[in-house]
Amino acid sequence: MLTKPNPRHYSADHEAFRVTVRRFVEREIIPHAADWDEAGGFPRELYVKAAAAGLLGVGFPEEYGGTPADHFYRMILAEEMGRSGSGGTCASLMSHTIGLPPLVAGASPDLKARVLPGVIAGEKISALAVTEPGAGSDVAQLATTAKRDGDHYVVNGSKMFITSGMRADWYTVAVRTGGPGASGVSLLAIERDAPGFTRTELKKMGWWASDTAELSFNDCRVPAANLIGAEGQAFPLIMKNFNGERLTLAASACGAAQACLEDAVDWARERKTFGQPLIGHQVIRHKLVDMVERIEATRALLDDLAARLDAGEQPVAQTAMAKNYAARTMQFCADTAVQILGGSGYMRGVRVERIYREVKVMMIGGGAEEILKDLAARQLGF
Ligand SMILES: Cc1cc2nc3c(=O)[nH]c(=O)nc-3n(C[C@H](O)[C@H](O)[C@H](O)COP(=O)(O)OP(=O)(O)OC[C@H]3O[C@@H](n4cnc5c(N)ncnc54)[C@H](O)[C@@H]3O)c2cc1C
Repeated sequence: MLTKPNPRHYSADHEAFRVTVRRFVEREIIPHAADWDEAGGFPRELYVKAAAAGLLGVGFPEEYGGTPADHFYRMILAEEMGRSGSGGTCASLMSHTIGLPPLVAGASPDLKARVLPGVIAGEKISALAVTEPGAGSDVAQLATTAKRDGDHYVVNGSKMFITSGMRADWYTVAVRTGGPGASGVSLLAIERDAPGFTRTELKKMGWWASDTAELSFNDCRVPAANLIGAEGQAFPLIMKNFNGERLTLAASACGAAQACLEDAVDWARERKTFGQPLIGHQVIRHKLVDMVERIEATRALLDDLAARLDAGEQPVAQTAMAKNYAARTMQFCADTAVQILGGSGYMRGVRVERIYREVKVMMIGGGAEEILKDLAARQLGF
């Protein structure tokens, strides 16, 4: 690692966990990343392997197979996953980190017992479905309806751009059970084989290894017992979930930026032009320092954020700003690394090429940059 985590925040146990995640990523993901990208997916057994390495349960309750963890563990996990340079693999492999938290916070004990253990063991896959064709940033406008009919809800509508959308077993779906606006929104856990539920795969700019889908619900019958929390009370759960997702996305962007730096330094040491290694040219050394500067600043922001969260604060504005800042760091480092690698950086299968394609989604998913600035402005009283 070229830049080191601040030891004031990271204990020996944190660093041991970092080694575990790094080994997993170097053995199980990095060697296959290019092939999985071309294939448009990765083997399902990766979930079981990740669970066996203790990666899927981080931050989840012990009674369902998880391992309670502070925010530094969660950041290490996301950062090291991001370092794989295969955002698509990581997005799908870890989609339970956005699919499960609303259940942990709001589901009945029976529903938790039905969903959580299988997902945390890597045997089942969880996805979160909030976005719709007509409502992305403006979540309170979502139009998918769930109408009560005896012991069931009847769901009609569609969801868009859903990660793990093709092969998830459990979908945490935002639906409208009441009137317009945020107070009419509820969450339902919907199983993949629910009658009237179909999926269509979507092709995209990056994250090729992840299965992104449009979901359609056509008179889909869902047991009323699958309601997560009370009717009309889901909006705060969804917003809290977004904050957790933003921290994870920021840390993984920081990890991807780190990968760009590592590959750029290696290349600059190896590649010779005009009689000396690239790193002998001052211009190239400055580019490397620019990358380190931004990674260090991002990491400092994230460390501060994790410390505040562990202290019980709710730093919503800082979380939003950190996610934006980290995505920009990743973008800068991807661009700089591809430039330093020259033509080789433009070739398919090269880690920095993949990261360059994958960065844009970091500025859109989990709250687009503009929306997060609006959120921060409101929180800061502007
Ligand atoms: C690969 C991928 C995976 C995803 N995975 C999931 C998932 O698993 N689950 C899920 O629910 N969603 C998922 N999403 C959806 C993602 O969260 C949304 O794309 C995102 O919230 C933005 O919504 P939108 O695309 O509808 O854009 P829109 O809301 O239509 O916004 C379009 C643009 O306009 C800007 N904009 C909107 N309103 C304003 C305003 N008031 N002022 C200024 N600018 C504004 C936005 O910032 C954005 O740049 C995924 C998206 C992608 C691309």
